[in-house]
Amino acid sequence: MVKKLKLIDSKGLRMDGRKPDELRPIKIEAGVLKRADGSAYLEWGKNKVMAGVYGPRECHPRHMQNPAKAIVRCRYNMVSFSVDDRKRPGPDRRSTEISKVAGEAFSSVVFGEQFPRTSIDVFIEILQADAGTRCAGITAASVALADAGIPMRDLVAACAFGKVQGKMVLDLDKEEDNYGEADVPLAIIPRTEEIVLLQMDGSLTTKELQQGLKTGIDACKQIYQIQKEALKRRYAVILEEEETTEGDA
Ligand code: ADP
Repeated sequence: MVKKLKLIDSKGLRMDGRKPDELRPIKIEAGVLKRADGSAYLEWGKNKVMAGVYGPRECHPRHMQNPAKAIVRCRYNMVSFSVDDRKRPGPDRRSTEISKVAGEAFSSVVFGEQFPRTSIDVFIEILQADAGTRCAGITAASVALADAGIPMRDLVAACAFGKVQGKMVLDLDKEEDNYGEADVPLAIIPRTEEIVLLQMDGSLTTKELQQGLKTGIDACKQIYQIQKEALKRRYAVILEEEETTEGDA
């Protein structure tokens, strides 16, 4: 007989010791790539993500240009060594879907009217994956957009919630995602709590969804603080560098 994997113990704790509404540890560093206009590196539990932003720049192919505003394009990609089995390189249905929904989430915060006919290109590379990579990617790319100096209404923060062995939990890891009953990625504009991405894999009752949304929104606000801290550290370094160059002159 196959022994059933116990994802929640008798004390209500998860396999990695987290409480149901506890996030995995998150670290963000902004401005890590020299050649990109903006960038961010993020570690979220065992997920490792690099995000780079280029633009606003002249949009190619030209038929995609919008004379009224910039278009925001996003490419989400999982590198071959990001998962246990080698991932076949190149786009697939899943990465095309994630690129689309992430791009739409960013379009809702970027002030594109200021840059007609241009494109803002967002690249999300998943270097190591352990579930929740679309949320990790969106969170990192949003910091990269701010690092690129793109005018925005606010950052976008993202986090998933779901249900595992009958319990509502926040920020599912790979085992929980594989064996759980539901996984619901959520992205919001933290200042207004507007939802810019909401997907669901599995099923929940209306009450569970409402409970999950509340915990998910609170979590996004915690993540927002980490994003802002990363940007503050980045600007402190820039100011320091400017002061040193001025002093040398
Ligand atoms: P998310 O990463 O946003 O949770 P999914 O729920 O689609 O997106 O995927 C969950 C996890 O499954 C991923 O984070 C990754 O660890 C794993 N995974 C996804 N696609 C593949 C793949 N092609 N090969 C192996 N593992 C994969």
